Amino acid sequence: MTRACDLAIVGGGIHGVGVAQRAAAAGHSVLLLEKERLAAGTSSRSSKLIHGGLRYLESGELRLVRESLHERTALLRLAPELVRLQRFYIPVYADTRRRPWVLAAGLTLYAGLAGFARGASFGLVPRHAWDTLDGLSTARLERVFWYHDGQTDDAALTRAVMASAERLGAELASPATFIGAELRDDGAVVRYSQRGGVVECLARVLVNAAGPWAPQVARLISPASALPDVELVQGTHLVLEAPPPARGIYYVESPRDGRAIFVMPWRGAAMIGTTEVRFRGNPDEVSASVGETHYLRGVLRRYFPAMAAAHGSGRAFAGLRVLPGGTGHAFHRSRETMYTVDRARKPRVVSIYGGKLTTFRATAAEALKRVAASLPARRPRADVDRVPLPPA
Ligand SMILES: Cc1cc2nc3c(=O)[nH]c(=O)nc-3n(C[C@H](O)[C@H](O)[C@H](O)COP(=O)(O)OP(=O)(O)OC[C@H]3O[C@@H](n4cnc5c(N)ncnc54)[C@H](O)[C@@H]3O)c2cc1C
Repeated sequence: MTRACDLAIVGGGIHGVGVAQRAAAAGHSVLLLEKERLAAGTSSRSSKLIHGGLRYLESGELRLVRESLHERTALLRLAPELVRLQRFYIPVYADTRRRPWVLAAGLTLYAGLAGFARGASFGLVPRHAWDTLDGLSTARLERVFWYHDGQTDDAALTRAVMASAERLGAELASPATFIGAELRDDGAVVRYSQRGGVVECLARVLVNAAGPWAPQVARLISPASALPDVELVQGTHLVLEAPPPARGIYYVESPRDGRAIFVMPWRGAAMIGTTEVRFRGNPDEVSASVGETHYLRGVLRRYFPAMAAAHGSGRAFAGLRVLPGGTGHAFHRSRETMYTVDRARKPRVVSIYGGKLTTFRATAAEALKRVAASLPARRPRADVDRVPLPPA
């Protein structure tokens, strides 16, 4: 027998669970399909920052920075056990590309865009305190700025949002793999495999929140819609054995190409990332390359020589970003989320491409706005701006 729901969502990453929570809170019946386990994809392989994205100011993405800072404030309030403010340090050396006046201007704008809310202050670490900064190299060091941003456990946050969605009535099917959908005038007949069988669900709306698998998932929907011009970019982090930086998170410039890299504490270890390398292939097979780990070890050696020497073995993990296609380096591409729908009037499918962990609530709201005309009116169950997100 074919079951029915208002929304079927493909993908148990932060975007899928965010849509599930918001739709369930609005009173809709929701089924979320995840082929492995919650946060099995990019949502457990990020830099784990809930941040405005200071560096996006360089590319003029003011709207995105403002929205991200707003979301940071909301998550600090809704998920205080999962999202915490950390102190960040930006060292400026004689050869650092971003000069002190550029950083001071950027941090002033950042504080302004945060509305001078909690965590919006910044300043300079006095010279006499530089030797307390976890062994940061002081040769030719000119200034060290500090400011605040958020850090989280991305997978735990994803599980917390899904637990909230389930409390609001959403259903999680996992492991359950989406295998195809046929669009009808009133919705989509969604097929998925679970426990060796094939199940059908008639959904008013199908949400493709499959992250780097979203193009694959879109190709399984008939009739086919045009795919946006996107590409996958791999980002690797290196996790090295303890002791981690004790003072906070360091935001340094790669000596090789000027890219911004974080050196941060993570579960009793030091985590360094990330890289950006174009990825072609099956997202199931993404893995860190030797070249990437060399690159990250080189950054650590430049700024924390003692830490680099003390750290022996480590492990690396890689995740995939979905970015707009283009010819320039991925570092300079827009980080705005992209949405597509199958038709302008009463769309049956909305696909989410790209996005940030930080802005998952705003992304969910925007995705639902795109398909609002196709969903029946329901009695809301809760206001997600007031629903706490305790660890699941
Ligand atoms: C290296 C890196 C660092 C980042 N750092 C940050 C950061 O510090 N802060 C920040 O805000 N953002 C960061 N981001 C961005 C952020 O992590 C991602 O935007 C976000 O996690 C994407 O979530 P998602 O739900 O779209 O995708 P995913 O988390 O990948 O979820 C997609 C899910 O779909 C499932 N799936 C796929 N196909 C099917 C199918 N056929 N049936 C059922 N399920 C399926 C997968 O198993 C997966 O669980 C980073 C990204 C990268 C790559």
